[in-house]
Amino acid sequence: MPLVSMRQLLDEAAKGGYGVGAFNVNDMEQIQAIMEAAKQTNSPVIIQASRGARAYAQDRYLYHLILAASELYPEIPLAMHLDHGNSFETCKSAIELGFTSVMMDGSLKADGKTPASFEENVAVTKQVVDFAHERGITVEGEIGVLGGVEDGHGAGGSGLEHVTDPDQAVEFAEKTGVDALAIAIGTSHGAYKFSKKPDGSVLKMDILLAIHKRLPKTHLVMHGSSSVPKDLQDIINQYGGKLKETWGVPVEEIQLGIRNGVRKVNVDTDNRLAITGAIRKVLWETPEKFDPRDYLKPAREAMQKVVALRMTQFGQAGHAGDYQAVSIAEIAKGYKNGSLSTKPLVADK
Ligand SMILES: [Zn+2]
Repeated sequence: MPLVSMRQLLDEAAKGGYGVGAFNVNDMEQIQAIMEAAKQTNSPVIIQASRGARAYAQDRYLYHLILAASELYPEIPLAMHLDHGNSFETCKSAIELGFTSVMMDGSLKADGKTPASFEENVAVTKQVVDFAHERGITVEGEIGVLGGVEDGHGAGGSGLEHVTDPDQAVEFAEKTGVDALAIAIGTSHGAYKFSKKPDGSVLKMDILLAIHKRLPKTHLVMHGSSSVPKDLQDIINQYGGKLKETWGVPVEEIQLGIRNGVRKVNVDTDNRLAITGAIRKVLWETPEKFDPRDYLKPAREAMQKVVALRMTQFGQAGHAGDYQAVSIAEIAKGYKNGSLSTKPLVADK
């Protein structure tokens, strides 16, 4: 299947009432792990690259690797998404390269650290939406500021400092016309999300429910949604690692989100943990080995296992064959003629 629009993928997820995992990649093995998991579970999928990934691997490598994935797995709907674009120029360059979806994170200024004003966020996001939709490309925006730092991107802090205001979310969706809306509900990037097991009050699920009530048709996005499972932490520490005790976002909370408008769930840390644990185990148990394939193969398998599990938990498993890809040119026409209008449906409080 050619690369598909993320908008199509999320519209289908809304129809089917499931969420779609968006998994970050930096190299070939991670892309292979995701595609094998998608094949194994028959899942549509979003592969995303952050600015950090683009800097690490170089854009063109990532683009062609993901393109190869779409050729090798024609049965899998696959969207290629830019994670946390920091400026109009970053998003434009991704679109020109061939990404089918971009995130404009205007919640932060272009330095990727300083919180931006609401007006600044609206202005830059709208600029990206206008450019992207003309070309049939999906846009994710963000309102409220996530906690933590990953790949040098983030405001830091606990994630509870700039939780999304539901009224602002409505205004933002109306003014920008984004296809998907990332909201801040207390989650943060990286492995150290919570220092104790989070309950419903730590994670602001009530905010998510309030936003979904006001914007019942808007595709919501949960960032920083790794669960940081203890067994993956344990493997790393068992084989010489030194991770501090930490908790992620419980899968049940993500599933509650999916029942309430969450269509895209970003997962990165869990895969990083799985890879590192597998590599540590091989090197610890067989220190005489030096062929990278001896540890990259188990690393790839460990990541595949995590991704396949998440695909099942998010409900996207079994849905790869539900639809045919609509061409990006057709999607562009849809934005133009209003059939893919992004004017949000707004309900009363
Ligand atoms: Zn994020």
